[in-house]
Order: sequence, then C-alpha cells, then structure tokens
Amino acid sequence: LRRWKKVVAVLEDLEEDCSTSVDRLRQVVDAMAAEMHAGLASEGGSKLKMLLTFVDKLPNGSEKGTSYALDLGGTNFRVFMARRLGGDSSAIQNMMWTNNLFSTSNDKHKRGVGRDVSECLQQAMSKRGLDMRVAALVNDTVGTLALGHYHDEDTVAAVIIGTGTNACYLERADAIIKCQGLLTTSGFMVVNMEWGNFWSSHLPRTLYDIDLDADSPNPNDQGFEKMISGMYLGDIVRRVILRMSQESDIFGHVSSRLSVPFILGTPKMAVMQEDESPDLREVARILNDVLEIPDVPLKVRKLIVKVCNVVTRRAARLAAAGIVGILKKIGRDGSGSITSGRIKVGSHSEIRRTVVAIEGGLYTKNSMFREYLNEAMTEILGEDISSHVILKVTEDGSGIGAALLAASHRSVG
Ligand code: ADP
Repeated sequence: LRRWKKVVAVLEDLEEDCSTSVDRLRQVVDAMAAEMHAGLASEGGSKLKMLLTFVDKLPNGSEKGTSYALDLGGTNFRVFMARRLGGDSSAIQNMMWTNNLFSTSNDKHKRGVGRDVSECLQQAMSKRGLDMRVAALVNDTVGTLALGHYHDEDTVAAVIIGTGTNACYLERADAIIKCQGLLTTSGFMVVNMEWGNFWSSHLPRTLYDIDLDADSPNPNDQGFEKMISGMYLGDIVRRVILRMSQESDIFGHVSSRLSVPFILGTPKMAVMQEDESPDLREVARILNDVLEIPDVPLKVRKLIVKVCNVVTRRAARLAAAGIVGILKKIGRDGSGSITSGRIKVGSHSEIRRTVVAIEGGLYTKNSMFREYLNEAMTEILGEDISSHVILKVTEDGSGIGAALLAASHRSVG
C-alpha cells in the first residue's frame, strides 16, 4: 500500500506543478504579448527574437507563372513547384528531384533567415547556367502563413507544432520599433517570432522540465519549446516514470532503459494515452517493449496514462495561450478597446474573423492534443470571440507556401 501511495504522490505532484488554470493561461497570454513588444522594441530586448522576414505581401491567388521552392530540411531536400495555368489557381505540388543542387549545413539559423543563403543559392544557380532568380528566402512558418493566406485572406498568423515549434504573424511595419522608418508597400511585414525560445515565470515548470533543460545541449534556451513540442513530451513522461520507479518498487527493479534520454518518443506516448482497450494492452506493450518494464498491474497502467495526459494537456494549453498572446498583440483577442478585433458593418460593429494557419505532427496527428488546444482557446477567449477565431490546418505549407511566396515576390527587387 505504501508503494502505491508513493507513485500516486508522484502523479499528484505532477498534476499540481503542471496546472494550467485559465488564470494562469491568461498570465501566459499577457507575458507572450509583452515579450513580443519587447522583442520588437530592440534587438535582444526579449528571449523572443522577433525576426524580420522582409516578406511584406502574402499570396492571395492572383500570382502568375511557375515558381519553385527548395525546402532545405534536416535530412530531406525537397523541391516544390507552384504553377498557375490560365484560370487554374490551384497550387500544384511536384516532387521533382532530390539531388544536391548545392550543399548546405543543417544549421537552423542559416536556413532560417539571412541574406547569405539566398546569395549562395543564386550564385550556385547562375554558375550552372540556370536562368532562375531567388525571389524569397523564408522559414517554414512563413511558408505556412503564405499557404494559409492563399486559401483564406483572413489568415494573420501561422503556428507549427511538430518536432519543434514556432510561430509567425503579420505585424504593422510601424510597430517594429527596432527598425525605425521601415517602409513596406503593404505597411505590414511578417515577423518570425522564434517562439520556441519564449520564457516567462508564469509558465508552470516542474522538476522534470528543469532536469530536461539541464541535460539538454542548449540549457536556458527554447524553454517554451521544451514544454510544448513533440521532441520533448515523451521524454518528460519518461522522466516521470523513472521517478515513480525510484520512489517506489512498484515496477520491481529500476529498468536501465528508463535512464536512456529520448527512448520514449512522443508518438509512442500518444499511443499509450489513446489506448482504449479495457486492460490497457498497448500501455503494457510499450512499457514492456520500449522501457523493459514487464507485468505492470492495470491500476499502475492507468496512472501512466494519466501522466501522458497531464503532459500533453499542459503542452496543448500553453500553445493555446501562446496563440492568444499573438492575437492580443495584434488586437484580435477581443480585449482592449471596444473596437479591437471588430469591424464596422453599417451602423454597428462585428467581431472580425481571424484565421491562424497551423501545421505539425503533434497538432495534426494527435487528436487529444488538438482537442485540449481548441478547448483552451475557448476558455481563454470566451465563446463569443473564439467562435470567430479559426485554427486551420494547412499541409506542406513550408514548401508550397514558399513557392507561392516566390511567385508573389518575384516582380520586386
Ligand atoms: P517536423 O519534424 O518537421 O516537425 P512533423 O510536423 O510531421 O515534422 O512533426 C513530426 C513530429 O510530430 C514527431 O517528431 C512527433 O514528435 C510528433 N508526432 C507525430 N505523430 C504524433 C502523434 N500521433 N502523437 C503525438 N506526436 C506526434
């Protein structure tokens, strides 16, 4: 009985430390909006880098001709083509070749934002006699925003929640204070937030997060990402199970597998969480096969499912708070002045429709994560406003969206 109480205590502590009450989430919303302000005010003003992308117009379906996008991913180098033929305005996706056109390092910053890469690419293409011009260099969230905007012009932000997480949004050029006198034709610019690096003391942090961060190659960085994204959720759960195993001999001896970082991937964790068999067969199988913990009693399997749930729910709710933070920053959250987020229709005003494009395996493949996130959006915003905020899944935005962006940018510089 005592060992049972000890494992239950580990779960209860976790639940308490991961608590995401609406009040707490609203604090995170405010912190996100405040950090966005700070990051726009000065270089290094916030952990949010708020990078200028120099993308000042988004595709809307009027683009012409053929454009290609090179998706410089980690392992795959993908090429997309967007083409508009006569009245056909659909984006055509073509996997054309996967050869090395030029080699690039896998450095995140190099393929993110920066002039050097596009110059390299342009030079390499010219040297090979290719009559092509680099029109835009964008990161994956910007591609997602572009594709979202192409389908729906009310799209103002994009969020990716996959292995990692990031967001970008459309900001007024005059709000980008760190770049005085910034002129764009549209008066807007897409800002790449690099929101994985967001940090606030209001984030509900546990012992497991602290350990995960300390063991990581980049301690004190990517704090938001380490609580939210697919890279880490399984590993947080592994750490909780390890602690349960150390606190009580409920699993017998402590399996050495439990000490192997990232051995429990987030998709495996999701399988445990979604196990609906009466005897939680999948949970038992994963505990046995992945973590080498055999013969776990049913009531302990149930606890493990709860652990997966707590970690997933916290991630989804924090991501929701982050999204609302963006909406708050651009006046689409219904707070602030009476006119914020409203448009005038005749003599009265109506709440404006706001679309956020969203991509990434954690959101698209995990229905529980998705439900928790949507539920938290409604809790924070209220029914009225949240019914006008639409999270729309796009697919392959990083590639197709980038090709569309190239199409809409090639007439300029
Ligand atoms: P990227 O690696 O470019 O982010 P994706 O957007 O496809 O690619 O995201 C893949 C990530 O999503 C995986 O690394 C994993 O962490 C997470 N993931 C995929 N499927 C699931 C799932 N069913 N449940 C939870 N997480 C998942």
